[in-house]
Amino acid sequence: MKTPLAGPRKLPDPRLPLWTASLWEWAFPQGCALCGKILSPGAEALYGLCVPCGEFMEAAWSVPVRCSRCGRELVSERGMCLSCRNGPERAFDGIFPLFPYSGPYRKILTAYKFGGRLSLGNFFAVLLLRALKERFGPFLAVKGREERMPHAAAWTPVPPRPGKIKYTGWDQIEYLAGLLEKKHRRKSGDFFTLPVCRCLERLPSESQKELDREKRRLNLKGRIVLRGEKGAGPAVPRRAVLVDDVYTTGSTMDACAEALKRGGAEQVYGICLCYD
Ligand SMILES: [Zn+2]
Ligand SMILES: [Zn+2]
Repeated sequence: MKTPLAGPRKLPDPRLPLWTASLWEWAFPQGCALCGKILSPGAEALYGLCVPCGEFMEAAWSVPVRCSRCGRELVSERGMCLSCRNGPERAFDGIFPLFPYSGPYRKILTAYKFGGRLSLGNFFAVLLLRALKERFGPFLAVKGREERMPHAAAWTPVPPRPGKIKYTGWDQIEYLAGLLEKKHRRKSGDFFTLPVCRCLERLPSESQKELDREKRRLNLKGRIVLRGEKGAGPAVPRRAVLVDDVYTTGSTMDACAEALKRGGAEQVYGICLCYD
């Protein structure tokens, strides 16, 4: 049996004002999550990265040519990558991953997930909002009467596997959702700060990590469902933007999109922090 990881001992509430991150860094300095340099109060402490490392990370997601389906960088292919072209039909309409899951990008994701570097969540939240606006803005645009409808478009966090929280000690996607929600409240009126809709639930299944593409797909079949299928859960957004940490074969995103579309969603997009 796996020994549970410690996880961050006590999660600061994502609804706390942003300056608390600076205060935290001042009281318990951890340095830049990438190069270890001492962080200045303000933006550096808030994001857990020094300015040059932050700029380096930001530059990485603007790769010139990406697959129109999964968002991976294209080298010699055109339009869609080989695995999307030869793979099964997908329920989602498009995915945008921010970084490759390697080198420094993997290092900061690990520092966030397992090293208690929660301030990186603030950095990820800013990039998620930028990706949402730049990549999916035209698809999500709401007009006229729809603008006042509560669930025209919303972030939808990918739910964790039951038991995962017990092992890692916390839910890093839910924490990000909390940060996005806070930004939504602070900037209400700006369409690009969407509300968060937690309408998905994951039923027990095997961990996806050791499985191949086909087994991952079968393992998740019917295991991601709407919370309170009989109308008791939150309303399904008409246009949903899923948020997850790592995109590997796309099975999880696909299963989520399938459940959302069954529940009435018209379009489902996804933003992931990394692609493997
Ligand atoms: Zn640095
Ligand atoms: Zn692709």
